[in-house]
Amino acid sequence: MTATFVDGTKIAEDIKAEVAADVKKLQQRGIRPGLAVVLVGDDAASSSYVNMKARTCEKLGIYSRKLTLPGSIQTPELIDQVRKLNEDDSIDGILVQIPLPRHISKHAILESVDPKKDVDGFHSSNLGSLLLGHEALVACTPSGVMTLLERSGVKPEGQHAVVLGRSDDVGKPQAVLLMHANATVTICHSKTRNMAEIIRQADILVAAIGRTALVTGDMVKPGAVVIDVGTNKVSDRTTVERLFGRDTSRWQDFEKRGYVWAGDVDERSVREVASLLTPVPGGVGPMTIATLMKNTLAAARMRRGL
Ligand code: NAP
Repeated sequence: MTATFVDGTKIAEDIKAEVAADVKKLQQRGIRPGLAVVLVGDDAASSSYVNMKARTCEKLGIYSRKLTLPGSIQTPELIDQVRKLNEDDSIDGILVQIPLPRHISKHAILESVDPKKDVDGFHSSNLGSLLLGHEALVACTPSGVMTLLERSGVKPEGQHAVVLGRSDDVGKPQAVLLMHANATVTICHSKTRNMAEIIRQADILVAAIGRTALVTGDMVKPGAVVIDVGTNKVSDRTTVERLFGRDTSRWQDFEKRGYVWAGDVDERSVREVASLLTPVPGGVGPMTIATLMKNTLAAARMRRGL
């Protein structure tokens, strides 16, 4: 079997077009959804993610505000900045770009965001609501994965879903979402024994561990649906060769940038066994931003009781 690649870029474009149409309708009623993105410090990767989010907002008609704060800022001052955004009526969604500098309490900052504006779905109140199955703003990546499954015709009900990773922003909410979709869920993490055996039982596998190509074809059940959340930078030639052989477009990328992106799944061997596979890049990644836009629109509506 050769797996079909799930075109996350195309599905994300569809979602963004739907959001843009809904934003237009809200604007006709005098409402313009707004997203504030808070960037602390000058990390190049974070800065480029933040700019990408702002550009996407503009394209969809969403008001965006970027707040750049020095890396030396302390937790109480950062909380003050977040509180101002909580009280700002032109802002419906607040996203504090992670990772934060080590001296800042990530927990205190995430908890300071008004849950109604928590478009990242990281606030304990939203995570609690998600667990209880109540209306909530849900973390963008796992929520985007559910949309990918849905729009690819995958029905989790009754299936064995295995989630690799138990982080607060991906693994845990992913497992809960799959459980709510009536899958039987197993979560694996760094202390899991016999992980390969568990992976082999998965009808749906979601890999979110940040370990380059750890999942190989011999671990995957024939016909499984494999969602690769992992985004790992590969910057040595030997690994690029091992993972992608002579794939021209990968090598072009490598020569241009000095690295390529690879997932937690070994694309070449898993593609021979799975039925559906998300590529890296172009699978889950684009869905994360599209879902952020969807969440901003949802927050604008929820806040106004629409
Ligand atoms: P994280 O916070 O570092 O969590 C990693 C999880 O994987 C932890 O639960 C860890 O277990 C587990 N783990 C690590 N090594 C393992 C191993 N060898 N075997 C089994 N489990 C292992 O990472 P994250 O934020 O969830 O992100 C995971 C990956 O997804 C990263 O590559 C990240 O870049 C990517 N990501 C992509 C997107 C996107 O939009 N495409 C969004 C978010 C994240 P313990 O809990 O036991 O330590």
